[in-house]
Amino acid sequence: MARIRYYYDTETCKFEPVKTSTTDIVLNLVGFLVFSLIISIGLVSLYVNYFPSEQAADLAKENQQLLLKYKVLNNEFASASRMLSALQDRDDNVYRVVFEAEPIPMEVRNAGTGGAEKYRDLLDERLKREDVIIGAFQRLDKLKKQMYIQTKSYDELFEKAKEKAKMLASIPAIQPISNENLTQFASGFGMRMHPIYKVMKMHTGCDFSAPNGSPVYATGDGVVISSEAMSGYGNQVEIDHGYGYITKYAHLSAFSVRKGQRVKRGQKIGAVGSTGVSVSPHLHYEIIHNGNKIDPVNFFFNDLSPAQYEKLLEIARQERQSMGGE
Ligand SMILES: [Zn+2]
Repeated sequence: MARIRYYYDTETCKFEPVKTSTTDIVLNLVGFLVFSLIISIGLVSLYVNYFPSEQAADLAKENQQLLLKYKVLNNEFASASRMLSALQDRDDNVYRVVFEAEPIPMEVRNAGTGGAEKYRDLLDERLKREDVIIGAFQRLDKLKKQMYIQTKSYDELFEKAKEKAKMLASIPAIQPISNENLTQFASGFGMRMHPIYKVMKMHTGCDFSAPNGSPVYATGDGVVISSEAMSGYGNQVEIDHGYGYITKYAHLSAFSVRKGQRVKRGQKIGAVGSTGVSVSPHLHYEIIHNGNKIDPVNFFFNDLSPAQYEKLLEIARQERQSMGGE
């Protein structure tokens, strides 16, 4: 039963019943609905913003943990980077110096690893702290590139070390006959009186006097390129050591090697004699470097103490006549 409402009419001075039109009712209803809707939207957005769903809360927690992991990862990369830096430093200042390799320029070591843009696509723009994640990927990239260059450097040094060892074994470095007391060094390199022609002549090697048949040794690793009788040098052996070095051993009484044979430093290649132009049993020894005959006295460093070497240099400087030759 609808309640009848009254109002006081000042003209009639009576209470008159309120007449409600249909339009009023509809307008009231619409107003109420609009008001309710606004309140509802407000409440829902309040709820969504301040009371996230359980799933959203889990995701946020997971995000936090991921962020933490990336931060830890970044620290790990920084520590690996420091270790690599120490290796690079040692490489440039020790290993590459020892093996006479140029240091690797910093710009090569730090060569382009691409900017942050490379990884921008990986990430959702809404993700917070994307810099941490991009940073981790960039650090990893840089580290990989630097490690690759470091590995290449070690490969190069390994090759150089092998080459250096081979070179050290090949280049003439000992005396060709046993000469511990340095009493057998007879005549040095330079202008010397020739014992047979009786004229000053260029002596292109050095002479060691020794009894007939004394062993003659290869002064470095190499390949025998000559083992034959010549007119002036008599029976001679020539060894090619590579790196531009050839040694010649002349006036031999016997051969212990043949042409084409590989020899090691210290290996017996023949015996002292007096074949060819020679006054008495001796070994005439020559070193030819890039086609030039050079003073062998500078190549006896392996088996001499500094004092012995000094003494040998003194003997070599004395202008004793040679013991023969061409
Ligand atoms: Zn000689």
